[in-house]
Amino acid sequence: MGKPHVLVIPYPTQGHVIPLVELSQNLAKQGIKISFVNTVFNHKRVLDAFGEKVNENGLLHLLSVPDGLEDGEDRNQLGKLTERLCQVMPTQIKELIHKVNESDDDKISCVLADITMGLALDVAAELGIPTVGLWPAAVFQLAMLLSIPKFIDDGLIDEIGTPLMKHKMFQLSPMNPSIHPMNLIWLNIDDSLSTQKIIFDFLVRNNKVVETSDWVLCNSSLELELQAFNLVPKALPIGPFLATNRLGNLSGNFWPEDPTCLQWLDQQSPGSVIYVAFGSLTVFDQIQFQELALGLEITERPFLWVVREDITKGKHHNYPKGFNVRVGNRCRIVSWAPQAAVLGHSSIACFISHCGWNSTMEGVSNGVPFLCWPYFADQFLNESYISDIWKIGLKLQKDEGGIIRKEEIKSKVEQLVGDENCKTRAIELKQMVIKSVGDGGSSDKVFKNFVQWLKS
Ligand code: UDP
Repeated sequence: MGKPHVLVIPYPTQGHVIPLVELSQNLAKQGIKISFVNTVFNHKRVLDAFGEKVNENGLLHLLSVPDGLEDGEDRNQLGKLTERLCQVMPTQIKELIHKVNESDDDKISCVLADITMGLALDVAAELGIPTVGLWPAAVFQLAMLLSIPKFIDDGLIDEIGTPLMKHKMFQLSPMNPSIHPMNLIWLNIDDSLSTQKIIFDFLVRNNKVVETSDWVLCNSSLELELQAFNLVPKALPIGPFLATNRLGNLSGNFWPEDPTCLQWLDQQSPGSVIYVAFGSLTVFDQIQFQELALGLEITERPFLWVVREDITKGKHHNYPKGFNVRVGNRCRIVSWAPQAAVLGHSSIACFISHCGWNSTMEGVSNGVPFLCWPYFADQFLNESYISDIWKIGLKLQKDEGGIIRKEEIKSKVEQLVGDENCKTRAIELKQMVIKSVGDGGSSDKVFKNFVQWLKS
């Protein structure tokens, strides 16, 4: 019998690739052979971002399959991307499994895929290969999705997920976040009804794999979401994945990290810097971008700001006139930061974040308080965890025109940085989650049992 050999398949966006790379590296360290499948498009991005250093520790075998879109088509249009994945992935994955098994003495013994790639898990099940679903977001989000049939029965949403009661909040249990109907995950990907339908159907179809998979693992911990884990008994915690567990280069990044910002952080006072980052997909309009720049400027604090090259719609970002001169050395702008290391740096005071789940986990596991600026998908739910449930951050409020104004940014930064209770809670939460992934902790136990299972 060959070595255990796991084929790992993420949904092809940055926030889904990173946690699966992290889990894969953790498994590889335990002697499990990993073949990691990116789409051809993302595989190229990863290679371009890291050059020869990609996967330099050689732990992961990097493979790729087409995503069904043409060259030049926009992969950030998630409705279209998802539609094409549904069309091409089942055949692609089947062929890939046959190809790997033909050429490798260690046949694929398990397929571990993002639950949003349930179609890959279905293919594996059809071929008689054991399946593992990884849920890379809040378990509470999974509980919400599994409740869709009930929401339909109760007349809260229709058959394509449109809310039927515009103001009735969705709350599954008192200790969980409550979700405004307009913030349901399938509604806010973009404004079109066709995208809503594609995403809604896709999510509903994936619910099935929660039942059929041999394991459902989550990048979360009991300490963070006990009530939500009670709602989904099959879901087991193995997170949060910690950056400190990473080996060598993280081969999942789509952009090259700018490590020089860490040296800049070294020169700042402890607990002084505002870190500002909005993940991989968020796009600002130019007015909001400028308002954010002005808001950071008037805080009069040092700030490290991730400005991705595609963060605004136009060709150029709309910095206020004279901005660079006025903020001078107090500001560092990078196009992609080594975020997990940044959040672990002692000079960080707080994190202005879009509240993507990975960013949330990275902030939480470093004890950093948040200013929440959610845009879409599950980010509103995560904001609610941060500000209403864990109470380790504040919400930024939009004005009547839908803009977060500079005065709001300044005043919330001041409020957060001066809130000792919030800081204490953030540190306490950090200690709890670190314990959960440490030797003998709740997530660590699940991880070890899982590794045993893979080896058995
Ligand atoms: N990230 C990073 N450098 C940056 C910005 C983001 O490495 O400058 C990483 C971040 O650490 C996180 C991921 O990109 O692991 C973003 O995932 P998240 O779920 O927070 O947001 P998404 O991109 O899915 O909206």
